[in-house]
Amino acid sequence: MTAWDPALLAAPPLLGGDDRLPPEHKLFVLRTLPMGEIRAIGFDMDHTLARYRAPEIDELAFKKAARFLVRDRGYSPWLLEIAYDAAFAVRGLVLDGLRGNLLKLNRERQVVRACHGTRVMTRPEVDAIYGRRRLSTSAKGFRNIDTLFEIPESHLFARLVDGFDRGLLKADNYLQLFHDVRWAVDTAHRNGEMKAEILEHRQFFIPQDPQLALALDRLKREGKKLFLLTNSEWSYTAGVLGHLLDGQDEARPRWTDYFDLVVVSSRKPAFFLDTPEPVPIEGWPRCFTGGHAAWLEAQLGAEGEQVLYVGDHIYGDVLRSKKNASWRTMLLVPELEHELKLLEARAQDMRDLLRLETVRRRTLRRASVLMDQWKRNRVRRHVLGPRLSNEAAVALDHEAAHLAASAEALQRRAELQSLELTSLTKAVEAAFNPTWGPMFRDRDEPTRFADQLQQFACAYTGRVANLYMYDPRATLYAPLPTLPHERLVGRVNG
Ligand code: IMP
Ligand code: MG
Repeated sequence: MTAWDPALLAAPPLLGGDDRLPPEHKLFVLRTLPMGEIRAIGFDMDHTLARYRAPEIDELAFKKAARFLVRDRGYSPWLLEIAYDAAFAVRGLVLDGLRGNLLKLNRERQVVRACHGTRVMTRPEVDAIYGRRRLSTSAKGFRNIDTLFEIPESHLFARLVDGFDRGLLKADNYLQLFHDVRWAVDTAHRNGEMKAEILEHRQFFIPQDPQLALALDRLKREGKKLFLLTNSEWSYTAGVLGHLLDGQDEARPRWTDYFDLVVVSSRKPAFFLDTPEPVPIEGWPRCFTGGHAAWLEAQLGAEGEQVLYVGDHIYGDVLRSKKNASWRTMLLVPELEHELKLLEARAQDMRDLLRLETVRRRTLRRASVLMDQWKRNRVRRHVLGPRLSNEAAVALDHEAAHLAASAEALQRRAELQSLELTSLTKAVEAAFNPTWGPMFRDRDEPTRFADQLQQFACAYTGRVANLYMYDPRATLYAPLPTLPHERLVGRVNG
């Protein structure tokens, strides 16, 4: 059987023997990953090796940032009373600081859903501002919500926009609120207070996962060089990873025993763009502050596609490491477990949606053929009119009336099917998030986030420990990329 044997196209996508694994423990492969060729595997720390308890961690950042705004920037103490709404934002959205909006974009970077402050905008409102054009979110005043750290920032900004619109807050414009919120969240991360609180209550904020040490250990025993590459500073990193890994394995008593190289304060994405000198951490062999991708590769004796990097930041961890260093990439999506549960719970609804849509399209196609027959009938009646016998003319008119009635009946049926589809789609999407729907799609289209995932990640999964169930020397196969005409061949032969 060749790689292009049509029978393969119809085969189930999972040929790797992991199909018995529960979905939340699976790696989802987008580009075939020959793990045998991977010599070094790197890990991001925050929201990758360390899974934070959400929404508690987000609420902590939200409250800290609000306190900074009141204490240092003169914002109304009203801010301190706002309850944090964990469901308000999801990853992959975009903040429009100029207009006070939060946006969901599709693959074409067009706005498909939006909120002004916390108020959901109507379709005509969205169209009036953004139209159906591609939006460049790298422009000034936009911020991509690409990591879980940015979720509380979105909610805080939205509540400030609400307060500003109601006259409760004084500011020049939305952009000032946007910059102030950025400053407050940035300060919360940098000034050490929040991190001290997380470390003090690490048992609560960072649940331990016994399978994490097992997964790292298996990779190391199979000869992979492991490295840590985190933007967190040394003291915080040591506190978090010590909590997660110290004492998990007698053979590797300290967290540093799992890694051949540790890089903290790495300044990703600049780590993949600039070339600053690494600074060794005194008393800790193989541990450094800063550095750059080429230096790291030389340290590990692995380069480009021999390196696999696992991180949660679609831009800083995945897009930049793939584009600039040609590393293979795995995106950590902690939300995946929840999304998978919802997909499972809604499986029957999804099947109904597919069936309804197929039936609706068939109905419309039949209606359009009948309408065309009616039009041909009327042209014939007009052109042949004087030459037709009375009998023939009556027969044609009779047929026309029948065709028109049938076409109209089909069109009415299609409209009813559309209504049913819309209400079922809304119910399904609202189960994911009442305002934003699912992270990965909007109706039939992939989102900007899903598009970036497909473009830049070789694989994705919900937690690092999932690696344990996969052979570090086996190839992880992606489903064969197929074009619509090839899928048709596969189905005919399957
Ligand atoms: P990584 O995900 O392990 O690379 O680390 C992310 C680091 O960035 C953590 O130490 C976060 O506290 C930090 N961080 C996240 N958002 C911000 C911010 O807005 N300003 C400064 N640091 C941030
Ligand atoms: Mg991270």
